[in-house]
Amino acid sequence: MILVTGGAGYIGSHTNKALNQAGYETVVVDNLCKGYETFVKWGNFEDYDFGSGDLREVFEKYDIDGVIHFAAFSSVAESVELPQKYFKNNYKNTLNLLKIMREFGVDKFILSSTAAVYGNPEKIPITEDQELKPINPYGHSKWITEKALEREAEKGDFNYVSLRYFNAAGCDFDCEVGELHDPETHLIPLVLDAAIGKRDSISIFGTDYDTPDGTCIRDYIHVNDLASAHIAAYEYLCEKGESNIFNLGNGQGYSVREIIDMCKKVTGRDFDVEIADRREGDPDILIADASKIRNELGWQPKYDLECIVSSAWKWHQKINNI
Ligand code: UDP
Repeated sequence: MILVTGGAGYIGSHTNKALNQAGYETVVVDNLCKGYETFVKWGNFEDYDFGSGDLREVFEKYDIDGVIHFAAFSSVAESVELPQKYFKNNYKNTLNLLKIMREFGVDKFILSSTAAVYGNPEKIPITEDQELKPINPYGHSKWITEKALEREAEKGDFNYVSLRYFNAAGCDFDCEVGELHDPETHLIPLVLDAAIGKRDSISIFGTDYDTPDGTCIRDYIHVNDLASAHIAAYEYLCEKGESNIFNLGNGQGYSVREIIDMCKKVTGRDFDVEIADRREGDPDILIADASKIRNELGWQPKYDLECIVSSAWKWHQKINNI
C-alpha cells in the first residue's frame, strides 16, 4: 500500500489515479485545506493532517510500504508574505511524517520538490548538480527538506527520491480530476479564464526580461507525465534501494507570450493581453536538463505544449459548464 499525502490536490490526484491504474493500492491522506475529496476517486481516503501525531492511526490501519509526499503549500508569493507557514508545513511537518515512517519501518519516500530550489540558475538548461540558491521561502522550505532527507538516508534503512518539478500543467484526459486552485495564480488556467470571458484580459508580468520576446521562459510539463515519473521513481526505490534526485521537465522552454499564443490557437478564441509590472521573485528563464532521469530511470515525458493546453482547455470547459 502506498500512502499518498496531498492526494486530493492537483498533482497528487493525477498520480493517485495513475498508481491505481498501474495496479498499486493507495491510501490518500489529505486535510482538504486545498484539495477536494471528489478528486479522490481511487484507493482509500483518510482525512488527516500529515503534520499531526494522529497520522500514526493511518500507519496502524494500513500496511504502508512507501510514501509519496505531495502535501505542501506551493505559492511563491504567499511564501514571501508568510514564510513561517511554509517552513512549518513544508519542512517541519515533513519531519513529523519521517519520524512516523521510521517508527513503522517504512523506508521508501518520494518528495515533491521544485525548480525553485535553484533560484536564479547560473546555467540553462539546469542540471541537478547546480548549486542550490533558493530566492524565496517556498524554494528554501523544499531545499531544507531535501537536506533532511539526505541526512536521513545516510543513517540507513531509508531511501528517497526527490523530484524537482518545473511548471506542472495540463489535466487528466478523461477530465475526472484537474487543476482547481483557489485563488488561481498559474498562467495557463488564468489565460483560459480570459478565453472563456471569466476575466477581461490576461496580464503579462514583465516584458523586459532577458529573453527573445522579453517575457519569462518556463518549462511546462504535463501533469500525467509527472504522475508516470512518480511511478518510475517508486519502482526505482523498490528495485535499486538507492536515493536520488531528478529534474522533472520537458527540457523545452516557452515564453509567456508563446503560452498565450498557444492558448489562442487551441481555444480558437481571442482576448485582450495587457502588460503589467514584473512579479517579485520570477527568474528570467527556467528550463530543465531532463537527461538524468531519462538515463537513470528510462523515463521521459510524452506530452507537448499543445497537448498540455488542449487537456487544460477540455477540463476548463467542463468546470465552467461550457
Ligand atoms: N504569469 C503572467 N501572468 C499571470 C500569471 C503568470 O505573466 O497572470 C507569468 C509568471 O510571471 C511566470 C510564468 O507566467 O513568468 C509562469 O507563472 P506560473 O505562476 O504559472 O508558474 P511559476 O513559474 O511561478 O511556478
